[in-house]
Amino acid sequence: MAQQRGSAVADVVRRLAAVPGREDRLTHLEVLPARAARYADWPEWASPRVVESLVARGVTRPWTHQAAAADAAHEGTHVVLSTGTASGKSLAYQLPALTDIERHRGPRGQRGATVLYVAPTKALAQDQLSALLGLGVDVRAATYDGDCPLDQRDWVRDHADYVLTNPDMLHRSILPGHARWAAFLRTLRYVVVDECHHYRGVFGAHVSHVLRRLRRVCAAYGASPTFVLASATVAEPEVAARRLTGLEVLPVTGDGAPRGEVALALWEPPLTSYVGENGAPVRRAASSETADLLADLVAEGVHTLAFVRSRRGVEQVALSAAGMLAEVDPALADRVAAYRGGYLPEERRELEQALRRGELVGLAATNALELGIDVSGLDAVLMAGFPGTRAALWQQLGRAGRGAQDAMGVLVARDDPLDTYLVHHPEALLGRPVEATVFDPGNPYVLGPHLCAAAQERPLTADELDLFGDSTRAVLDSLVAAGLLRRRPSGWYWTDRRRAADIADIRSTGGAQVQLVEADTGRVVGTVDGGRAHSSAHQGAVYVHRGETYLVESLDLDEHVAVISRADPDYSTSAREVTDIVVVQERDSRSWGDCRLSVGEVDVSHQVVSYLKRRQPSGEVIAEEPLDLPVRTLRTTAVWWTVPDDALSEAGLAPDVLPGAAHAAEHCSIGLLPLFATCDRWDIGGVSTARHADTGRLTVFVHDGHPGGAGFAERGFRAAREWLTATRDTIASCECVDGCPSCIQSPKCGNQNHPLDKDGAVRLLDVLLTAGGLARE
Ligand SMILES: [Zn+2]
Ligand SMILES: [Zn+2]
Repeated sequence: MAQQRGSAVADVVRRLAAVPGREDRLTHLEVLPARAARYADWPEWASPRVVESLVARGVTRPWTHQAAAADAAHEGTHVVLSTGTASGKSLAYQLPALTDIERHRGPRGQRGATVLYVAPTKALAQDQLSALLGLGVDVRAATYDGDCPLDQRDWVRDHADYVLTNPDMLHRSILPGHARWAAFLRTLRYVVVDECHHYRGVFGAHVSHVLRRLRRVCAAYGASPTFVLASATVAEPEVAARRLTGLEVLPVTGDGAPRGEVALALWEPPLTSYVGENGAPVRRAASSETADLLADLVAEGVHTLAFVRSRRGVEQVALSAAGMLAEVDPALADRVAAYRGGYLPEERRELEQALRRGELVGLAATNALELGIDVSGLDAVLMAGFPGTRAALWQQLGRAGRGAQDAMGVLVARDDPLDTYLVHHPEALLGRPVEATVFDPGNPYVLGPHLCAAAQERPLTADELDLFGDSTRAVLDSLVAAGLLRRRPSGWYWTDRRRAADIADIRSTGGAQVQLVEADTGRVVGTVDGGRAHSSAHQGAVYVHRGETYLVESLDLDEHVAVISRADPDYSTSAREVTDIVVVQERDSRSWGDCRLSVGEVDVSHQVVSYLKRRQPSGEVIAEEPLDLPVRTLRTTAVWWTVPDDALSEAGLAPDVLPGAAHAAEHCSIGLLPLFATCDRWDIGGVSTARHADTGRLTVFVHDGHPGGAGFAERGFRAAREWLTATRDTIASCECVDGCPSCIQSPKCGNQNHPLDKDGAVRLLDVLLTAGGLARE
């Protein structure tokens, strides 16, 4: 444990952990020392007027990383800036962009250089626009999104020199209508891709092709813009940036922004006396533990924000913290509030002011609070469960101690393998990032529609095929065979009357979308991907959307509609499915001694057979309800490993142990893959068997949940050694006896978590990893 005397934020954590009965809960306390800012000079090429405006707004000099990225971009080098929250990434592209816009203005103010800014959400583009206009620089900036009125669109196309948009608008509007954007595109100097770590999984693959289409259309107008990407801190940002753009991209990672001292505490709630599935122990809920900590911090006057997954959880945390505070001093109970959904501006302002005046000291909010409310200047952040990615964790933690102010954060583990691993392996959060932004541009289900869209934008020629990757020719052939494209001597043509861009829904990750319709109002609350509807929108499911809780009344698979209603059940649900898998084609493999690791194409058939109701917050299983849903088949990518019989018997693994050992290893490895690939455990699935028909051996498969694959299984194959070592350690070090939700039990198991063999799983993984340790790669 990193101990540093004299650290005020660390002392707060120590006081929380010293409360009698809490002795074992703090698993790690890391104190990151304050860091002074590292400054660079303003680049000589920067426009004096732009610099003046920045200086007038308090930016006296750029930080080193801002200057390095700005210099690279100005020289025409594609660059990805991967630094922490609040490290001023915008300046790195605004400086060269605004400088070029000013330099190339015509004598009568005509537009000479243009910039396209792409954000994953409309809200972020709007925020960027106000920040840009707030600089007081002479720039004609405008957003171009679904909200942009038709009569303003012409002005934006013809006059704006800085256009802020999103991938959806590029895909549906700007690229198909490129002829009308010709003047803008001809002078395009920079394409800014902000928050690019959001482009992962199937969505990432879609956006990578949208950006390739953009490059191709620009080239047709004689423009070759410089790409500037901004990313959270991830592993190998240049690899993700290259996959996203198809270009060589320079990484800039050294963060020169100042930071106050940060104390990060990792916290594990204790096991309770509740009995879970198959007699397993159940850990105290992260939200209950968070409520205790929130009450303690508010009593000490520490300004605290607690992040909780659902709106119901938020209310629970705020209410229970207020209750505890009232016992201490009735006046304290009013110092805690829940941040209610709906995001009404007046409500936001009211909360912000109450926080600023000190009337409110603690706030519980859903993770969806990422944008919208200005609550800077907090002292502490509590996180009830790992927010999914390391980048999101630092983003939430960044809510406390903005700038050089000290801050503390507590990550409270949920009862699952990933959280359990993280609170016992601080290096996974603090050391070199292992989490990579992952997606697969080669997915034929994603590539096909974009080739159609590209062909409609301009007929595709043979020398352009490299742009879209190795599988382009094969996919084109299948599109021609399917009658979607026509092959002529000069290239591939779209001859259909439809809009080709309509074929690809870039936010969807497979199958038709199922609409979630509110029963009372008929309002469409949201959508679920067809592939996930069976498991998350089945009749009886508790569905959490933007922090609000709904109950699914019915699911109509033919009409693609789920009818839902607002509800407040005291339980959550999880679907269980049974799965079968067939190997279609091995793409790559590695030998670890006699063991073998493979990645390739598989056909997965699965069926959701029932769902479990778990009491909240305890997690206790209260019922299992059967479901009658059809079998679905999915062609996708899987990673699998096999162990031969001799190696198993040599290690003393008797045949009766094997099914439970393989099954347990499969569950835990699914739980831990999100540590290496930016996915959710619900994005992937698995199958394990003591003997698989296609391999003839004990085999454990982990597969992507989307047609054609999303890159997650591929990443598992590449990071197999670290991934499976983490899996083994999580199982071996769990304090339970025979397996529990923190190690080998899975909430979505189709076999009632049976059979599972905790000890056998460790021995099985030891056989594999020992063979792997001897193998050279
Ligand atoms: Zn366990
Ligand atoms: Zn299972």
